[in-house]
Amino acid sequence: MTDKLWIGGEWIESQGGTKRTIENPATGNEIAHSVDASDADVEQAVQSARTAFFDGRWSRKTPAERSLILWRLANLLEARGEEFARVESENTGKPYSSLSLKIELPFIVDNLRFFAAAARDTHGASAGEYAKGYTSLFLNEPVGVVGQITPWNYPLMMAVWKMAPALAAGCTVVLKPAPTTPLTTLMLAELSAEAGLPPGVLNVVTGGNQTGQAIVAHPDVRMVSLTGSTATGKKIMRTAADTLKRVHLELGGKAPFIVLDDADVATVAAQAIEAATVNTGQDCTAATRVYVSQSRFVQVQEAIVESMRQIKLGLPFEPDVTMGPLISGIHQERVQGFVERAIATGARILTGGKIPQEFSQGYFFEPTVIVDVDQRSEIVQSEVFGPVLTVSPFRDEREAIALGNDVSYGLAASVWTKDLDKAMRFAKELEFGTVWINNHLTLLSEAGHGGFKQSGFGKDLSVESMREYQITKHIAIASYA
Ligand code: NAD
Repeated sequence: MTDKLWIGGEWIESQGGTKRTIENPATGNEIAHSVDASDADVEQAVQSARTAFFDGRWSRKTPAERSLILWRLANLLEARGEEFARVESENTGKPYSSLSLKIELPFIVDNLRFFAAAARDTHGASAGEYAKGYTSLFLNEPVGVVGQITPWNYPLMMAVWKMAPALAAGCTVVLKPAPTTPLTTLMLAELSAEAGLPPGVLNVVTGGNQTGQAIVAHPDVRMVSLTGSTATGKKIMRTAADTLKRVHLELGGKAPFIVLDDADVATVAAQAIEAATVNTGQDCTAATRVYVSQSRFVQVQEAIVESMRQIKLGLPFEPDVTMGPLISGIHQERVQGFVERAIATGARILTGGKIPQEFSQGYFFEPTVIVDVDQRSEIVQSEVFGPVLTVSPFRDEREAIALGNDVSYGLAASVWTKDLDKAMRFAKELEFGTVWINNHLTLLSEAGHGGFKQSGFGKDLSVESMREYQITKHIAIASYA
């Protein structure tokens, strides 16, 4: 069914959409076909979501009824976890056992259970008398039909981060996965019907930027939520302005990893490498810029190179593989371009830096450590989205904070020290949506995840994200007495 669209609770043939080949990035082999939905398909999906919203089949269910369906979906996903994780790894190349199955899947199930619980906490029932003779009610109502657009790096997780809070809030959804990675999102849509989600409440249309654009421009879509690049976020905001939609943007990142002089070198090196190579560095919160106190610079740099050399690159289903390929040939060229331009401007590669020769197929890239980089250079300022780490020294606390903040992004940062007072000074001054102290990458269903600056606005995860999909209504009742 990968070449069909999920609209109105069933598989639908596209009306004039074009066929797309889906490949396994670890081999370059074709694994499925999907369709790039046409404007007519988007229209059908939006109308399906609109009908489902206004007839109340979802929004007028009690919070407990909505909660139960989301909970059932979590249970079904958990029961079929191996199948979902296998397809996710085939479609993205990420290690099956160490990432898709053991890390991502349990977290995604937990996310669904969290929003199943949050659905019962709509906080919309408060009432009060603020003027004599008037009683005010405040209701948190669902925004309406929401368009949701996801990237290719964590296809299933991003689909759940979008649709679970929106459904918990009582919205209906038209969701578009990234064009190259639609498979698990389509599977999830079908599973939602099995969980009891009424038809039309969740609709999935596959396709590229044009399909996304049609969703964003549609007048019946009340809100758009994107996880994607900053460039796409800006385009979406411009388009959404014409119909004055609410916009929620989770965009790029360029996380600093700041090592103070009392940090444990071995721990820091191991954690920096894990945080830099997670999902082949294709992670908006991946550690990409390591800054080390001058006095420990050489020691930390050597330990980082040593740890980077331990990364086991390979096919997703091979045992012990810790890093898979990049998502596509185009992306592999992009990452290589960043590294080559850095070298051309004087940076030095300590390990990696090339497309590895041992793979005849697939889009692999060597885990790479770069030094002698200029803070204002492209390799430090831009999101590479590959397993590429720069390491630079700093003189003192002030310089470390300034360097950490000196990018256009503001999604996540970490600071490493045994001195908690110092760590808190950093945490307060770093302009990032998340600051981790002595850890990097920790995500929790309860903790809102989102950016400052050009990393966007609004939160995924947490009750805050459900609030993004609600709108407050004030009802004022005058007494006749
Ligand atoms: P992308 O911006 O190219 O695409 C993201 C999605 O937007 C895709 O589904 C794409 O088809 C769609 N799209 C592109 N142009 C559009 C338009 N004009 N109108 C409507 N839809 C459009 O991003 P990508 O390459 O798929 O993903 C990588 C990016 O996502 C990185 O920048 C990464 O940092 C970011 N990301 C952010 C977070 C976060 O939580 N902040 C999480 C994961 C990924």
